[in-house]
Amino acid sequence: MNEIAHNLAQVNGKISAAAARCGRSPEEVTLLAVSKTKPASAIAEAVAAGQRAFGENYVQEGVDKIHHFAEQRVEGLEWHFIGPLQSNKSRLVAENFDWCHTVDRLKIASRLSEQRPSTLPPLNVLIQINISDENSKSGIALNELEQLAAEVAALPGLKLRGLMAIPAPELDYERQLAVCRKMAEACNALKDRYTTVDTLSLGMTDDMEAAIAAGSTMVRIGTAIFGARDYSAR
Ligand SMILES: *Cc1c(COP(=O)(O)O)cnc(C)c1O
Repeated sequence: MNEIAHNLAQVNGKISAAAARCGRSPEEVTLLAVSKTKPASAIAEAVAAGQRAFGENYVQEGVDKIHHFAEQRVEGLEWHFIGPLQSNKSRLVAENFDWCHTVDRLKIASRLSEQRPSTLPPLNVLIQINISDENSKSGIALNELEQLAAEVAALPGLKLRGLMAIPAPELDYERQLAVCRKMAEACNALKDRYTTVDTLSLGMTDDMEAAIAAGSTMVRIGTAIFGARDYSAR
């Protein structure tokens, strides 16, 4: 087994154990392998080990990788855009990705919807919530969710799938859990209103257990799969 396959097996094992501890089935939690800054060869190793969903933060880098795997005729991969999105880059996301996790304003949502090619299914989108990080400018407050969700749900090129958050780093499990539960409550309320909602993208390496206990359906893990990132080439 190569290192990436080994790491993937370990991460999947942790997800299963966390799910089992709270009486959930491991199939309810999708592992999103965050491959930003990593070469296509590393992604290919993960694909060979059975991984299908990949998260990218930088639009052009992600699009290059999507094209690479399309040219190799590798099918069944799912590409998630999880970085901050500027409106001048929305077209590339709309035309190439399957999901966008970081919708936090109507302007971006409208552009993504208009720019989504009619030959593709609607772009799956998550609304990003700023749940606990006062220093972050990404994401909306929970009290703005009702309005943005209604606007996003009305856009024909988008499919509202749920919520995403990047909680502020916090090492105490109980405090992690409290934040994750707030997100899960908001997601459940949204699910009651919109039948398309089924996804809570929440949980990274250090808060995965709490996120899964609260009800996360998608955890985003990079370093534990692909190793430390080298940003010097960017
Ligand atoms: C980079 C990133 C991750 C993964 O972080 P790691 O610490 O490498 O596991 C998850 N979510 C988002 C939004 C990210 O940008």
